Amino acid sequence: MKITDNGHATAAALLRREIPLGCGSGGNDVTVFLRTEEDAGKNPDGFRIEGSGGDWTITGYGERGLLYGVGKFLHSGKQEEKEFFPRASGGDVFPDCPFRAMYFSIHFYNWYQQAPEDELREYVSSLLLWGYNAIVCIVPVINLNSFDEPLFHASVSKAKKVFSLCREYGMETGIIICPNQGLKSAPHEFDADLTYNLKYRGKAGRNLCPSNPAALEYLRGLWNGMLGAFSGVGLDYVLTWPYDEGGCGCEKCRPWGAGGYARSASELRKEALKYYPDAKFIVSTWDFDASEDEGEYSGLYEKLKNEMSWVDGIMVDNQHEYPRFPLEHEPVKPVVNFPEISMWGLYPWGGFGANPLPRRFERLWRETRRILSGGMPYSEGKYEDLSKIQCAGYYWSAGASYRETLSEYFSWYCPGADPDALVRMCELIEKNHVGVYSGLEPDADAYTEAARIAREQNGRIFTPGRDEWRWRILYIRAVLDEKRYGYYYAHKSENELMLRLLVRHSGEMLKEDAQAQEYFRELCGYYGCVDYNGENQWTHPPVGGGYPEKRI
Ligand SMILES: [Zn+2]
Repeated sequence: MKITDNGHATAAALLRREIPLGCGSGGNDVTVFLRTEEDAGKNPDGFRIEGSGGDWTITGYGERGLLYGVGKFLHSGKQEEKEFFPRASGGDVFPDCPFRAMYFSIHFYNWYQQAPEDELREYVSSLLLWGYNAIVCIVPVINLNSFDEPLFHASVSKAKKVFSLCREYGMETGIIICPNQGLKSAPHEFDADLTYNLKYRGKAGRNLCPSNPAALEYLRGLWNGMLGAFSGVGLDYVLTWPYDEGGCGCEKCRPWGAGGYARSASELRKEALKYYPDAKFIVSTWDFDASEDEGEYSGLYEKLKNEMSWVDGIMVDNQHEYPRFPLEHEPVKPVVNFPEISMWGLYPWGGFGANPLPRRFERLWRETRRILSGGMPYSEGKYEDLSKIQCAGYYWSAGASYRETLSEYFSWYCPGADPDALVRMCELIEKNHVGVYSGLEPDADAYTEAARIAREQNGRIFTPGRDEWRWRILYIRAVLDEKRYGYYYAHKSENELMLRLLVRHSGEMLKEDAQAQEYFRELCGYYGCVDYNGENQWTHPPVGGGYPEKRI
């Protein structure tokens, strides 16, 4: 492939890095002309791809639009074993949603915490090429006694590394702050009142009462510590979070979401503007009115029209089904979602490989897209890569279907395979993932067929795709599912809890299976796992059967 970069060095470098196997080394000749076309009337994230035969031009309406164009040029092209055939975009392509962020959770020795810079760079830029424009991280106050601890510096340092990669690729950055979360060492006279109607919420970490002036002053100090840590690299978004860390049920603070939380988010904004005068503010409503209407949504909506009109957007989602209030009321501010792509229905997270749930995410998207301006999937590692790309598909084209997005994903990462067969395999994996989580016995036809497709398609994928982690974690998932569901049917009469163990502790079922053990170790390699240390049971594949001493 010959590239005329016209000074667009980043786009050219990414194109060169991602160039398909064989192209330019005896394959067909493709020349690519990179250019930007500034147009004040057009979204700078947009692009178009034109050409035919061997001559192609990628035009971005801004520098980042050019990068998205490069991504689409690669992902939508057709790869043969030694040849690459680009496809025109058929006109301008613009994203439907402006907010297309990814939340990197950096903790529990997960891949983000462990990843070396070169792997992080590859990953951040791959998310960019699929259409994301921001990455958000958190400072783990919940685990800290003081900001002098190595954990604080390690977390900030990793987040800054991620953010500096974002800057290289023109992406935006943000952090989440739980505004009433204190350090573990916070004085007890600042404590929140957790006795009133917070249900299971408010139980994580040291939650303080921001209606107590001394506690608020203490919290202000913490906010400054966190905000100041990123002044070198800059923040474009500050997000506030109400629960699981967070919550106070005292008379002055309740209902928390419309009371103490809303007020402390306003106080936090004043501090944040000192560091980042152009930052945008997103207020999360996670777990608002979780078990009954306490006036959290209705109260916040009223404030958003008045004293909190400065809010740029609200984040709305839930672990299971989407909250009803925002769907049943006119949005006051742009609404973005927070898809739970990481932990739903199977532990350890990513412990059995990839976790595709395409039908679930498509249903949730279609039920909610009319109020959404984008979103931010919750990520614990690389194993949910496929769901991240599925979400990006919706953020770019609200009418997208998972079949087309996943087909593109497989055409790109698994060349030689039949994309339709791999989409079918994901549907079958999901069928049992959802079914078993909801208490149904595994469908034997589904898991047998998923494993058959995995083995058949494995023989068709060209190298290096066949040996790359994206395919391996999917292949391993299909084969491990066949093994653990098969174990269930062979042994279910021995233990009445066997069906429930499939969701949380099925690693123990495979501790005598040498091939399964080999696959678990292979997954550990992809995730950069350290040996079990008492804190990584959520993110560590169950080598040797798992870690029953720290069951969750
Ligand atoms: Zn309070």
